[in-house]
Amino acid sequence: MNFKITFLLAFLFIGFNGYAQQRTCGTDAFMQEQMNNPEFRAQYEARQAKFEEKLKQNKKTTSNRRMTIYIPVAVHFVEGNEADRACLEAMAQNQVDVLNNDFRGTNEDLSQWNDASTSYPGINTGALDIQFIIATQNHPANTDPDLIEGEKAVTIGYNWGNGMDHDANWSGYMNFVIRTLEPGILGYSPLGGSPAAGATIVMAKSFFGSGDGCTGHVPQAPYDLGRTVTHELGHFFNLDHTWGDGGCGSDDYVEDTPNITGPTGGCPTAGSVTMCGNKSLTMNFMDYVNDACMYMLTEGQADRALTYLGVIEDEYNTNVLSVEEFEAEKVFAIFPNPADNEIMIQSTSNVLKNGASIQLFDMLGRIVKDDKFDSSLEQEKVDVSNLNEGVYLLKIASENFSTTKKIVIKRN
Ligand SMILES: [Zn+2]
Repeated sequence: MNFKITFLLAFLFIGFNGYAQQRTCGTDAFMQEQMNNPEFRAQYEARQAKFEEKLKQNKKTTSNRRMTIYIPVAVHFVEGNEADRACLEAMAQNQVDVLNNDFRGTNEDLSQWNDASTSYPGINTGALDIQFIIATQNHPANTDPDLIEGEKAVTIGYNWGNGMDHDANWSGYMNFVIRTLEPGILGYSPLGGSPAAGATIVMAKSFFGSGDGCTGHVPQAPYDLGRTVTHELGHFFNLDHTWGDGGCGSDDYVEDTPNITGPTGGCPTAGSVTMCGNKSLTMNFMDYVNDACMYMLTEGQADRALTYLGVIEDEYNTNVLSVEEFEAEKVFAIFPNPADNEIMIQSTSNVLKNGASIQLFDMLGRIVKDDKFDSSLEQEKVDVSNLNEGVYLLKIASENFSTTKKIVIKRN
């Protein structure tokens, strides 16, 4: 109830400033309310301390990290009908596809940055090597009786967390709860969320997924491309709004996002909004523009999110994943490692044949070898005799799959 009141006040305040027509994210109000809870506050501060520690250690290395992080997803349509299961499962998958593209930097509209970037010298787009997968195995007991082993972790009509914003049954998952929210609020997330605590992102029914939607869950323009969930996930991974708390003196703790005072709505032309003497990076996922007009994270944001993922990575329970692309990682072998002049990659998995790419990166992130898996073979030999001794990252990727292994080249 506190959260409702805080939100209404925030909404009125925002309204007086002329932003009533634009996207409203409930994260700031939610965090303000949650921080009054001493237990939540203590846990939040402990996690942030851990994050700051990691930030110091990792400052130089996170952007070169090439290990894919697999994130098990569960989606909860609290007010859905079981009769709509097929539609709601497809909608959940559609949203997960949007998230994978947006965070991996494979979203088609990122190409707009080619032109837009001329307004923002020195800013580069960032991407994370992560993959969201809807869980299909070992579903928790005593939740939705309609969950079937081998099928998607999508609950329908389950009273998630008893109306609270966490549910211990769903600890270890990246949870998305879809339910009715106060009018005007699109969604909210804890800032720096905890999968172990069964935390969740909460979305209003009209702002989850893209496309035609399902009964009672139809995405509403101009926030109908699933980008609100991308934005809220940014918060879960410890990204603030690009304006921080507001005012030119307030920071979002990301070096390469221009310092600005507040959000922008609608669909502004790149470089057309100036605040604090800077061009606002309006197309950023952590701003408030329309879904069709936000399409990027910066390198600094990707680094910060990846560092936060380093704090929570072990809290995700990957035993609930069984889909082909995840299993594939377990069914190929790379040997010898350390290697001297040759590396063998052996696989019985279909996803790796069919022209999968094989790339070797050095520790500076430069590609030093670019090869293809020969579809007629079950093993592929990679010649590394021309490479110096040292540590490399071997990335194997096909259309639906990508994984990375650390390889050492050592000669006696
Ligand atoms: Zn937000």
